[in-house]
Amino acid sequence: MASSGDSPDPRAESSGDPREAPIGGGRARVLVVDDVESVREMMAEALRLDGHEVTVAASGEEALDLSREIAFDVSFVDLVMPDTNGLDVLKSLLQFTPDADIVVVTGFATIEVAVESMRLGAADFVTKPFSNTHLQVVVSKVLERRRLIKAAKEKDYYKRLSRLDGLTELYNHRFFHQLVDSEVARARRFGHKISLLILDLDRFKDFNDRYGHPAGDFALKQVADLLRNTCRKYDFIARYGGEEFAIISPGSDSSQASVLAERIRERMSESDFAMGDGVAHLTLSVGIACLPEDAGAKKELIERADRALYLAKDRGRDCVVLAKELSS
Ligand code: GH3
Ligand code: MG
Ligand code: MG
Repeated sequence: MASSGDSPDPRAESSGDPREAPIGGGRARVLVVDDVESVREMMAEALRLDGHEVTVAASGEEALDLSREIAFDVSFVDLVMPDTNGLDVLKSLLQFTPDADIVVVTGFATIEVAVESMRLGAADFVTKPFSNTHLQVVVSKVLERRRLIKAAKEKDYYKRLSRLDGLTELYNHRFFHQLVDSEVARARRFGHKISLLILDLDRFKDFNDRYGHPAGDFALKQVADLLRNTCRKYDFIARYGGEEFAIISPGSDSSQASVLAERIRERMSESDFAMGDGVAHLTLSVGIACLPEDAGAKKELIERADRALYLAKDRGRDCVVLAKELSS
């Protein structure tokens, strides 16, 4: 479900690693690859004048070696170099440095080569003879695009983070309420059924007292994994409270929801929770309410599922109770 993947780590601070590219600022780390010294120095000079940090390479091989050491923002790669096919250099650079933006430089401005480069993943192309202003505009365009992509990724990441519970990475209580609101509205609008399951670990206080709070935390994460592995992909799973979970199951009536709840209950009671040298066991109780069978609106749906859960506890725990079993 939620994994940080290649998302930015909000706690990360710059470690001074040269592989960390300073994306977004006006100053870029630029690599210029050209076999002709006068050309690469001319390009380097134009880019340095614009405030960028420029490194030069005389061959594709040298460019690859440098790219393994330094995370360049932009690499200008000459397409025509002796003993080297510029498109091969482009492919290798794209393969080894997938985050780099590569601008190809071609002396024979055939549109086919430029198109092929762009198709392979080049960010842009410039033709020789080039003007300093053109190079500077290309770099600033690439930097702007990188800044926008980074900002979009961060926005997505923080949005996702604000919806998740830090321990279990299930949806948090606040987002659960938003989900119930929207799913109930959708179910009513389209005349679908929807079930709400509230699950509470049995005697979890005793578990903490016996094995310690960190072990309890670890068990909560394992329970979250069990829920993720047991639910259908369109069910929404949330951490409702400390040791309480909630599942919104769109499209399920009470019998379908109770099949799901029984499956979870059975898997829980059969699971071994690794605790130091030994294993521990945990059970849970479940209350289920459905719309429109048991409730017509969100508040009532939650109340009925909650009351069904209390009845499950009264009945001795490790069981599932449907709201329709409640007296009123
Ligand atoms: P019952 O079967 O009636 O639900 O008993 P219970 O002990 O599970 O219920 P109770 O409400 O008395 O206690 C809940 C326990 O859950 C107490 C609390 O320490 C524990 N708990 C809640 N949140 C967390 C958490 O984030 N981590 C750990 N380790 N324990 C938690
Ligand atoms: Mg509880
Ligand atoms: Mg409990």
